[in-house]
Amino acid sequence: MEQVAPCRLEIKTMDQLTILVLNLIFILFTTFVFQYIIVSKLPNLYRKHAKILIVILGGIQILFCMSFTVIGSPDFIFDLRLIPVVVGGLYGGPVVSIMLFIIVAAARVPFGGNGVWINFFNMLTITILTIYLSGKFKSFPLSRKLYTVVAVSLSYTVLIFLMKATVFDDLSKFQFMLLYGMALSGGIFIVTYFIEIMMQNQLLHKAVIKSDKIEVVSQLAASVSHEVRNPLTVTRGFLQMLKDPSIDEKKRLYYLNTAIDELDRAETIIKDYLNFAKPQTNLASSICVKEEIEKALELILPYANHFSVNIKKDLMAGMNISGEAVKFHQCILNIIKNGIEAMPNGGDLVISCREMANNHVSITIEDTGCGMSPQQLAKIGEPYFSTKAEKGTGLGMMVVNKIIQEMGGTVEVKSKLNKGTKFKITLPLL
Ligand code: ADP
Ligand code: MG
Repeated sequence: MEQVAPCRLEIKTMDQLTILVLNLIFILFTTFVFQYIIVSKLPNLYRKHAKILIVILGGIQILFCMSFTVIGSPDFIFDLRLIPVVVGGLYGGPVVSIMLFIIVAAARVPFGGNGVWINFFNMLTITILTIYLSGKFKSFPLSRKLYTVVAVSLSYTVLIFLMKATVFDDLSKFQFMLLYGMALSGGIFIVTYFIEIMMQNQLLHKAVIKSDKIEVVSQLAASVSHEVRNPLTVTRGFLQMLKDPSIDEKKRLYYLNTAIDELDRAETIIKDYLNFAKPQTNLASSICVKEEIEKALELILPYANHFSVNIKKDLMAGMNISGEAVKFHQCILNIIKNGIEAMPNGGDLVISCREMANNHVSITIEDTGCGMSPQQLAKIGEPYFSTKAEKGTGLGMMVVNKIIQEMGGTVEVKSKLNKGTKFKITLPLL
């Protein structure tokens, strides 16, 4: 008899562990399918309905976990349902958290017992904690994300343990609680790590596609000659017609203006492109951020006035970076020009530069213009992407990206349709 008892206990522990592992495998599998099929293959669907889709995924995972659960006592059942609640909430935000909470609370009802309320209380506590953390979670580095989720799941285990010990005076199955705590925190660690790796892969994939396209552009200078040929052909046609002495003054003027416009267009294309394709001439020197921005502003002021755009500046003095002043001007001009063009009926454009903590300068350019949809935002900087039809070349932002990259900096764009756009350039200080 004495030998049978421990053996039984072991088998039981194994069973319990199997159930928890089954929970974990299901969560990992469905998360993988979700990332692989929905996030990467149907990005438009995901962008539009991200929150609902995360709730559906989390809901399925919760229901699965609760169908394969370890019954501890009538009041306590154990499974990994906490993982979708926490992970879904942290990545999806407060609305997702609340929806998942409703699902997890409702799904416990059929099991009955005091557990309905215990689960309600515990999950509510965790949901509030998750909502509190969700704002900052996405900007955490990987290690901090991992220890945050582990800390949340350990607090949950301690919460249940304390409840069992105090309210129910039940200190049995301590060994199981330990196992549960380990499975839960190990599980949530693996799931979060897995999600992070998949997201990183996807970002990398996007970056590779983008740089591929840029490569193509620098090789195919021929495409520019094609772009330029159209305006030249049009100009030639109008000049030809001007030869006719019988045309009236009004028509003459119209032909002349069109010819000039078309030549301007050809010039813009060549200028934008040459800036991009020009071989690297390294004439970097120390340039003062405030002074150079002010010079660029002087150049663009007439254009801004023409569209009744009011430029406000808030520039910190005394910051120097390494680079070519002309190229730096070009970046600032291209971004401001886009901002002005986004506000054809006037508006405010704010440009500011600040020193950041890590010996970098951040330059922000913010407009209150037409903004961009997420789809447009994803394309900005790709060669020839323009929403301005005849008036745009779709090369401006590509040039900006290339120059800033060469200077060792980064460009970030945030935009809301019909609200405005904010560009943030970060560059290392000298
Ligand atoms: P272009 O200005 O010739 O169209 P760019 O590369 O400068 O080319 O910009 C590409 C596209 O990005 C623009 O056509 C526009 O749709 C979008 N865009 C850029 N900046 C802004 C902005 N400040 N507000 C709204 N849309 C913008
Ligand atoms: Mg532009």
